Amino acid sequence: DAKPSPASAKSAGIPGVKHIVAVASGKGGVGKSTTACNLALGLVALGLKVGMLDADIYGPSQPKLFGITGKPAIDAQRKMVPHERYGVKVMSIGFLVDETQAMIWRGPMVMSALGQMLRDVAWGELDVLVVDMPPGTGDAQLTLAQQTPLAGAVIVSTPQDLALLDARRGVAMFNKVSVPVLGVVENMSTFCCPNCGHVSPIFGHGGARHEAEKLGVPFLGEIPLDMEIRETSDEGCPVMATNPSGAHAQAYLAIAQRV
Ligand code: ADP
Repeated sequence: DAKPSPASAKSAGIPGVKHIVAVASGKGGVGKSTTACNLALGLVALGLKVGMLDADIYGPSQPKLFGITGKPAIDAQRKMVPHERYGVKVMSIGFLVDETQAMIWRGPMVMSALGQMLRDVAWGELDVLVVDMPPGTGDAQLTLAQQTPLAGAVIVSTPQDLALLDARRGVAMFNKVSVPVLGVVENMSTFCCPNCGHVSPIFGHGGARHEAEKLGVPFLGEIPLDMEIRETSDEGCPVMATNPSGAHAQAYLAIAQRV
């Protein structure tokens, strides 16, 4: 069981970057990366300068979500220049190595790659750097949460009991390293049938709100399970960028406002 580090053990901030916010989940597949991407775009819509660091080293999704490929350029200071899309500066391990290569890295290599992506990147002036964390609450996540100067963390969960149990672990992990939990997002909250319009709570509904209340952390909002979100994500044109006045974008925007 890892001990929480004293505040002094935290590494210094990144020059020019005002706040670093982690988006985390207790387990994979709950929509953490999709939420992180649309949250970043929501923050842009609020007029903030935003970066995205895809730290999900074993399954980097941000290149696909933002529709970006290719190695970043290197500037005169030998820093990597992040790709910019929809007003967000994006950096991902997916730009640097083959995904299958990173999958077999051991812990120390993962940590050094993440350290480089945090500090050897020409982020410039940012109000918020969103970090898409690897899913789960294992050693790598704990170390990352401990060594990154995080302003806070957003936890994404689906409403099922099992996912909520994992989300609770996520909250406990950030508490342990004294990172404030900014709140919980319920993803895949309800499903609206595109044919008949009937709304069904496939994974249950309201579980994350209830859990957030129990844990004494804010509830940030809910996002339905919807074809448009899945399709736009797969196409690299996130819903927040392509249909900013639609209901889904408004839901992400409301979450961005609460963060
Ligand atoms: P994680 O980062 O938690 O592993 P992802 O964000 O990669 O999860 O999402 C997993 C899959 O679920 C992706 O195919 C994504 O497009 C889809 N997805 C995520 N959220 C939603 C949603 N609200 N509605 C429909 N599909 C979603």
